[in-house]
Amino acid sequence: ATPTALLVGTGRGAQLGILIKGPEALENTRRADTVVLDKTGTVTEGRMTLIGVTTAPGTTEAEVLRLAGALEHASEHPVARAVAEAAAERLGGALPATEDFTNVPGLGVTGVVEGHAVVAGRERLLNDWALTLPEPLAEARAAAEARGRTAVAVAWDGEARAVLEVADAVKATSPEAVRRLRALGLTPILLTGDNAAAARAVADEVGIDEVIAEVLPEEKVEVVKRLKAEGRTVAMVGDGVNDAAALATADLGLAMGTGTDAAIEAADLTLVRGDLRAAADAIRLSRRTLHTIQ
Ligand code: ADP
Ligand code: MG
Repeated sequence: ATPTALLVGTGRGAQLGILIKGPEALENTRRADTVVLDKTGTVTEGRMTLIGVTTAPGTTEAEVLRLAGALEHASEHPVARAVAEAAAERLGGALPATEDFTNVPGLGVTGVVEGHAVVAGRERLLNDWALTLPEPLAEARAAAEARGRTAVAVAWDGEARAVLEVADAVKATSPEAVRRLRALGLTPILLTGDNAAAARAVADEVGIDEVIAEVLPEEKVEVVKRLKAEGRTVAMVGDGVNDAAALATADLGLAMGTGTDAAIEAADLTLVRGDLRAAADAIRLSRRTLHTIQ
């Protein structure tokens, strides 16, 4: 590769809002045949809002928001922020403090609030605490997920108390981005730690056939390794701390500029504006740049 041709490529990249880490990064893009897309924050806005609360008999919405809101206040997950913000808004300001806070990656959070041992997250996290959702709550969870939403189960003192419904919107540019990636000959795969029903709903909205859901953060990298072992050349687009290892392992890692530092550091390219269409631009550009070099 001649430095001049690469310079042209990277300069044009900057114009398109693409930062390219090194010339080697461009080599793999030409061969990429698969593009793995993280869901939350990459295909979707990643700005979630609390849109519904279902409580078990004997539990009030205010109690749920107070305890779950306080617990989630200690987490930076987009789901957690939605819960904490809604709680602060509806309860008018200060939330109680959380002690012994623990983040369980890909599942949820636990901690002690006002003397109560609180758990919030996927049903699976409650199951780990030997808790199950009683019928009205199990139904609320299934209904929320069928609508493409994320359900947050809340329990304290050994009892499941509520299901919160959290919504995220697909970025307006995502369907076009997926169309363009397909036109470049790449097969898109949606990869997420979120539930399978919500993942399917998002995939349908943007035109993706293949979905790999309910993947724990440390398993994302295994998915990329498996695809590579199948002989595919894999580009991966992500934004989260959870995506960093997978971005580093992919043949080509693309980070959302709106994402975490960990993702940006692990990636070969950064899509500065967080617009997924720039992923297609990057691949098109790098192919053209290589063409110029040869
Ligand atoms: P993604 O791959 O979609 O970015 P994560 O792997 O970070 O998602 O999380 C997977 C799922 O775990 C979330 O969709 C959510 O259901 C649950 N979860 C993770 N963190 C939290 C939290 N702090 N509170 C509630 N639920 C959480
Ligand atoms: Mg994400």
